[in-house]
Order: sequence, then C-alpha cells, then structure tokens
Amino acid sequence: MKLTDRVALVTGAGSGLGRAIALLFAEEGARVVVNDVRLELAEKTVSEMKGQAGGRAIQADVADSAQVKAMFATIERDLGAFDILVNNAGIAVGPGDDRAGIVRKSEARIMEMVSGQGAHTHLDVTQNLSDESWRRMLAVHLDGTFFCTREAVRLMSQRNRGAIINLSSVAALMGLEAAPHYAAAKGGILAFTRAVARDVASRGIRVNAICPGYIDTPMTEPMSPLIRAAVIARTPLGRPGDPREVAATALFLACDDSSFFTGQWLSPNGGLFIG
Ligand code: NAP
Repeated sequence: MKLTDRVALVTGAGSGLGRAIALLFAEEGARVVVNDVRLELAEKTVSEMKGQAGGRAIQADVADSAQVKAMFATIERDLGAFDILVNNAGIAVGPGDDRAGIVRKSEARIMEMVSGQGAHTHLDVTQNLSDESWRRMLAVHLDGTFFCTREAVRLMSQRNRGAIINLSSVAALMGLEAAPHYAAAKGGILAFTRAVARDVASRGIRVNAICPGYIDTPMTEPMSPLIRAAVIARTPLGRPGDPREVAATALFLACDDSSFFTGQWLSPNGGLFIG
C-alpha cells in the first residue's frame, strides 16, 4: 500500500473524480477526509470505503474562507497529522449561464465544420457572461484552491512534509470557448501550482497539478451526444477517460513514487492535448 497512515483531504469528493480519488486513497491505506458542499454525497463516498483506515465526511463550501478554516480546524483537532490535499471541488456552469443556448450553438458550429462550410455560428459566450457567473466560477475553483492550500501548508509545515494536488484541466492548456470563466480559473490554478511549489519546496511540500481531458463524470453527463462524439473524435485514444484513470494519476502525485516531482502538471487526456 502506498499511503499507509497518511491523512488526506479530497475536496468535492462526493462525486466524479474526487470520489474515485478518495476511494483509491482509502484502498491504499490513507485516512481520508471527504469534503463536499453536500454532506449526504460526502457521507455516501465514506460509506463506500471498505475495510480501510476509514474515512470522515465534512461539509464545507471551499469558496468560503471561514468554512475552509473550520474544516481544517476539525482535521487538526481530530486527526492530528495532515499529509495530502487534493483540491478537486469544481463546477462547470456558473449561475445563470445559458447552458442550453451554448450547447445549441456549439452543435450548429460542429455541423457547419463537418459539412465543410467553415464556422459561422457565433457562440458569443464571453459577451454574455454575467459578473455573478464569472465570480462564482473563480470563487469555487481559484479561491477554493487558495483557501485550502493556505490551511494545508500551515499544517504540513509543522512536520515539513506533504503533497498538494490541484485539479486543473486541458481547458487551461488548449482553451475552452464554451466556458472562458472555467478556462481562466483552471489556468489560474496552474500558475498558482507553480508559484506555491517554489514557495514551499524548502519545507518538503510538493505541489503538482492534474489536467484531465474529457472524463465521464456527473459534470460531463449533461454534454449533448453530438458534442460528446466531437470531443471523442478529437481524442486519439478514441474514448472518454474513466475517473479511476485520473485517480491513478493523483495517487502517483500523492505518494513517494513522485518524490522528485513538484510544480508540474500531468494530463490524463487520451491525446486530446499533446503538449
Ligand atoms: P463533479 O462530478 O461535478 O464533482 C464535483 C464535486 O464538487 C460535486 O460533488 C460538487 O457538488 C462539488 N462541489 C462543487 N462546488 C463545491 C464547493 N464550493 N465546495 C465543495 N464542493 C463543491 O465533477 P468532476 O467531473 O468529478 O470534476 C472534478 C474536478 O475535475 C473539477 O475541478 C473539474 O473542473 C475537474 N475536471 C473535470 C474534467 C471532466 O472531464 N470530468 C476534466 C478536467 C477537469 P455539486 O454537485 O453540488 O456542485
């Protein structure tokens, strides 16, 4: 087992990638704190952990600095040590975003392109993004990653060791025209990863990022069949990823196998982006 007795926090682990990461970490011997904004989802993930060191569910909105501080205070009080943070919580759609309209226009553009007519349909996403949507997107991803990292570094500094893993995206590497706020948040997470990696290396804390491609989770479920087919057509391995393939990447970055990795990103993406 690769994480025996390590204490890990995975945010947004009631669903999708976070859930898969939390379950794999528990299988590998970690004591896993499962965070989600919805307590019942976090508790469900904990209930799925079988025969391991055990898990614990904590509800908190990672975009709220006070809730994040309270969550880490609970971890410090109840678990003592703290070894691994996975900043995974995320949203793909901001409040008030016209998801249906963007899907419709994206599909029209795909049809124009496959029929050789060029791309004439305007998505017009940026000009219609509201302040509220922009702010919530950055708050969940970027503020959340910062708030949790700040607390984690404080605890990890007590023992001068730790691993922090931030969920970025291929959206940060190649752009995502349907969600500029999401791409901006994920790009910010990559830059933050590099800066913090340099800041905390002397304390024995490693900070890395994962940039997944298109993975089948509840986040990508609402994607239309045509858009899904178009993304798969651009993915050389010809299929979406499985959450366990991202969890395996997170395990590598969390355990001592990656002891010389810091400030890096790994991209399980089936070849969708080759950098
Ligand atoms: P998911 O299935 O929607 O899971 C995300 C979880 O985070 C949900 O349970 C969600 O709760 C929770 N969450 C949302 N806002 C939160 C907050 N403020 N505080 C705490 N928890 C919160 O999504 P996923 O596909 O597993 O994505 C996980 C991470 O990977 C995200 O950062 C995402 O951007 C990134 N990613 C995903 C893909 C992909 O293809 N799936 C690709 C690249 C990157 P609610 O359901 O209530 O919102």
